[in-house]
Amino acid sequence: MTEETISYTGLLCPVPLSHNDRIVLGHGSGGRLSHNLINKIFLPHLDNPILHAANDAGVMQLSDQEGISIPRLAISTDSHVVSPLFFPGGDIGKLSVCGTVNDVAMMGATPLFITAGFILEEGLEISILEQVVQSMQNAAQEAGVLVVAGDTKVVQRGKADGLYITTAGIGTISPGIHIGGEIAQPDDIVILSGTIGDHGIAVLQARGELGFQTDLKSDVSPLNHLIKNMLLSSKHIHVLRDPTRGGLATSLNEIAQQSKVCIELEESKIPVKPEVSAACEMLGFDPLYVANEGKLIAIVAPQDAEKILDVMHSTQYGEDAIVIGRVKAVPQSRVLMRTMIGSTRVVDMLSGELLPRIC
Ligand code: MG
Repeated sequence: MTEETISYTGLLCPVPLSHNDRIVLGHGSGGRLSHNLINKIFLPHLDNPILHAANDAGVMQLSDQEGISIPRLAISTDSHVVSPLFFPGGDIGKLSVCGTVNDVAMMGATPLFITAGFILEEGLEISILEQVVQSMQNAAQEAGVLVVAGDTKVVQRGKADGLYITTAGIGTISPGIHIGGEIAQPDDIVILSGTIGDHGIAVLQARGELGFQTDLKSDVSPLNHLIKNMLLSSKHIHVLRDPTRGGLATSLNEIAQQSKVCIELEESKIPVKPEVSAACEMLGFDPLYVANEGKLIAIVAPQDAEKILDVMHSTQYGEDAIVIGRVKAVPQSRVLMRTMIGSTRVVDMLSGELLPRIC
């Protein structure tokens, strides 16, 4: 099969898909295959300017009956199939609330309301479901959102793996806030809020696939309060993104392609916990591609970088924030990394699937 190249969303992706192909695990990786599915199947059928923007949440401007604009809305949705249901630092319930809260918040919105759809497997213990729902409420309370609608379906024994949750969230964007993957500019500073890979490796450990025990916990957390403080400190935050599936490398590639810029990283600045490093070395993973659920990338104007870092350092979930790189004009749509030994290498989007069912 030959690979064609399309630029449907401005995302230049090789598209090895035909109608005879079948879904593989990599189509859920958040990496190149997921982007191919979006560009080849979803966008051609469902395209509209809001979806086309290809950000963490769709942003729309509504007006009332008199034609007066009301606050812009950000809407996002997420499905959660993590296995196991409980892991160090979190569970599928906390993940389902935080994932959606964060995607809405990454557009600079204040998340307000969430909906939740449950697919339950016949035979699931009610006590497990109750623990998950209690955990959802704890996370919702911390984030300051309400779960306002829901749905439950039950499938026969063996047709699901305990339970799956799909959440959707909505939030409002204050006037003057404009954030999106397409707004990164040359000379901008790239900030990362903390260590990478904690979530993916913590879930792997919970599956017993690590071979050794660590104290590592998933970083799953709601980041909306951190973002609110950042937005109060600066009007020059251009991009916010949570590097979830596909990891830091994939999120940065998305942004580089949306903004048609080069993002240059300093390998020595990217924080990785020793236990994550050790696990990745053992398994042959690169932490740049391992999922996070409580971290964000901020791409900001250089004059405000120090101010934003100070605010992050004083806010929960941003204490370890650090500058990891800079935006350059060329080569367009590329992520480069200056390595510890002084060379420069290309950092590509995740291809294939690294760790299925981690979120
Ligand atoms: Mg996201």
